[in-house]
Amino acid sequence: MTARDNDIITPLIGVEIHVELDTETKMFCRCRNRFGDPPNTNVCPVCLGLPGALPVMNARAVEYAMLAGMALGCEVPDLTKWDRKNYYYPDLPKNYQISQYDLPLARDGSIDVPLPDGSVTTVRILRAHLEEDAGKNIHDHPGHTCVDLNRAGTPLLEIVSQPDMHSAVEVGAYGRAMQRLVRWLGVSQANMQMGHMRFEPNINLHILRDGVTYKTPIVEVKNLNSFRSLEGCVEYEIRRQYQAWCDDPDCTLEKFGKENRGYDVDSGRTVYQRSKEEAHDYRYFPDPDLVPVVVTDDLRHRLRQGIGELPLARRQRYMDAYGLSFKEADALTQDAATGDLLDDAVAAGATAKRVTNLLLGRVAAVANERGCTPAEVGVDARQLGELAAMIDAAAVNASAGDRILDILIAEGGSPRAIAEARNLLAVTDTAALEAWVDDVLAAHPEIVEQIRSGHKKAKQAFGFLMGQVMKTSQGKAPPAEAKRLLDERLHVR
Ligand SMILES: [Zn+2]
Repeated sequence: MTARDNDIITPLIGVEIHVELDTETKMFCRCRNRFGDPPNTNVCPVCLGLPGALPVMNARAVEYAMLAGMALGCEVPDLTKWDRKNYYYPDLPKNYQISQYDLPLARDGSIDVPLPDGSVTTVRILRAHLEEDAGKNIHDHPGHTCVDLNRAGTPLLEIVSQPDMHSAVEVGAYGRAMQRLVRWLGVSQANMQMGHMRFEPNINLHILRDGVTYKTPIVEVKNLNSFRSLEGCVEYEIRRQYQAWCDDPDCTLEKFGKENRGYDVDSGRTVYQRSKEEAHDYRYFPDPDLVPVVVTDDLRHRLRQGIGELPLARRQRYMDAYGLSFKEADALTQDAATGDLLDDAVAAGATAKRVTNLLLGRVAAVANERGCTPAEVGVDARQLGELAAMIDAAAVNASAGDRILDILIAEGGSPRAIAEARNLLAVTDTAALEAWVDDVLAAHPEIVEQIRSGHKKAKQAFGFLMGQVMKTSQGKAPPAEAKRLLDERLHVR
């Protein structure tokens, strides 16, 4: 068969996301949970799976996972338990992974995902459960493979969505929304270069031809660690699955079931790995070393209190209450602390618009250089508010404002004291302004004549005089006032 223009193709895509939780210690032992340490230095009998070692649950990890579940609108049941998922692999020293099978700690939620066109789509969350991560096989030695078990036993939250997405764009937006949410909650750094967040999309197509719907096999693409590969593999699979079905109409879900594929970033293609295992292949059974977790109303209440305003709600508030544009509001709600800085500066008496300009201007530029968030640049909210108020009151002009901000970033201090010490306050003294303007006019009679005679370069000449006034005043002349006065002097003989 061949492709037909009138085939109606509906991709159905669900995503499993693995999020490494940002706890001090591992999930079931007291080893440090940290990326980048020398191989096999953060290990102990528990995470090495030595005989007789007993796991002890990390309560903080459970709370982080519940927090994420609640923020996703999930139900957090009264009882959750631990199961052993049995498989054999060199990076898994116990030969089983402690996970959650039939009683996950959160289920049935949803997340609103903003799309690049400004609309919002809702993705349902099937479940979120907690498990321990495996170690890492390292293949960069010729002739043999090494295993680093520092990561073995670190807490991993697996969030499973329903197949509610239909394009690479939606899947990418979902991944970004999830990254923003877990960072917002402070439960994960969600740094993809460090493997804090890994994606496994499940993709198949429903193809409507001649009134009949055909379903292609469900492909799970394993272990993607960038948005680019997430979006790239979805695009590729949509094309590949349609072509595969056109080539062989027997290539259907009923006949082939599910399969795992890997994604090769360089070629932009997926590669067949194996037919997908089913739950019974793992012989799940309750872990006899760990007691079930009983969730009390008190705990639920306490965690819920800590969630506060979520990113999309806050973005809307910034647009409604502060009059910010979508772009500005979106940029300031990438993490909670940057938004808090805006709110606190406004509470200190500044206008939201001015603070936004400072945050998305000079502060964002510094953040960009340092590879951190605007909040992490470390400006104090009260000082930021004071500086914004000074600019609004024309006590300093915009360029002096940026200089003061640089000093605040480098050394801290009071904006007013900095402005005074460095002679950056705008001069509102009319006599001083008049003196600067008159000095400049007296120093450049030929240019004054050019302007008065309506020379074709009069506009540039005026700009030159303005520059001289600012220079003479060492940047302290309020530009609007200086311009008005200069104009007045030049056109009144
Ligand atoms: Zn350990």
